[in-house]
Amino acid sequence: MILLDGRKTANDIKEEIAVEVSSLIAAGSKKPHLAAILVGTDGASETYVSAKVRACKEVGFRSTLVRLDNKVLESDLLSEIEEINNNKDIDGLIVQLPLPDHIDEMKITQAIDPIIDVDGFHPQNIGRMALNLPTYLPATPAGILELLGRYNVETAGKHCVVIGRSHIVGSPISILMARNNNPGNCTVTLTHSRTQNLKDITKTADILIVALGKSEFITTDMVKDGVCIIDVGITRVRSNTTKSGWKLLGDVAFEGVKNKCSFITPVPGGVGPMTIAMLLKNTLKSAKRVVY
Ligand code: NAP
Repeated sequence: MILLDGRKTANDIKEEIAVEVSSLIAAGSKKPHLAAILVGTDGASETYVSAKVRACKEVGFRSTLVRLDNKVLESDLLSEIEEINNNKDIDGLIVQLPLPDHIDEMKITQAIDPIIDVDGFHPQNIGRMALNLPTYLPATPAGILELLGRYNVETAGKHCVVIGRSHIVGSPISILMARNNNPGNCTVTLTHSRTQNLKDITKTADILIVALGKSEFITTDMVKDGVCIIDVGITRVRSNTTKSGWKLLGDVAFEGVKNKCSFITPVPGGVGPMTIAMLLKNTLKSAKRVVY
């Protein structure tokens, strides 16, 4: 079994980005600049946004964090986005999700100029992804492709089973794994909560991508020998073995399942760190104007 080490791979990518940033600046360009909007004070969102801001600093990017009150009007958030869209100094804009219930997430996603939509959630960028055109790939699926690519996991002709059909993970990764690319060229089965006989399907997977958000859902009896597993899930659970009293679990019962795998991502330290590295990569792409 080979562990797909997302932490190490993400650090390698960040080092590569830092080198590129240094040469851009040496050639007279400005620092790539990422703006993030955070609405409210949700603990998990705070953690994700501060990790993104920290990562910007590590690779030599400029970052701007706009904090808005939980009760901010949708119209005010839209005005803030418009202002950033028009700020020529900013290369990338992300709005941390989820948003409070009174704000229409889809409206916000569509308000971001596709040219600086480095999360890759705008319908225009999703469409370009589906058509295999240059775009910003959504960060988590892009991180999965990067891990598979860097570890030379063979994907062509394989049966890839995806569990979960969210807009940010399951749906895009199912499109990406089916595209005529490497990694890609898989025969893909996309499953969700209405799928029947899930275990019969997962047992036929050569590559299993699990993104449903239920800790240790995938057990040894659900996979075949030699499977490659990408575990996207992150659930925080109580623990009496850690100092903090909490630990993170993936959607896969790692200890048993790993013995049947050719490759597997750990949680934490698998897909999570890759997501931030790919956001940085998208921001660099925007600064270099290689997509639009
Ligand atoms: P989500 O929006 O909550 O969607 C979950 C998906 O799982 C839905 O499509 C749902 O089906 C499906 N599902 C639920 N129960 C199922 C079951 N018993 N059998 C088959 N499918 C089932 O999920 P998400 O936002 O993609 O997140 C999934 C997990 O990944 C979470 O733990 C999240 O924290 C984690 N995550 C990690 C990263 C990272 O960077 N590592 C990034 C994003 C998300 P329906 O559509 O039918 O409801």
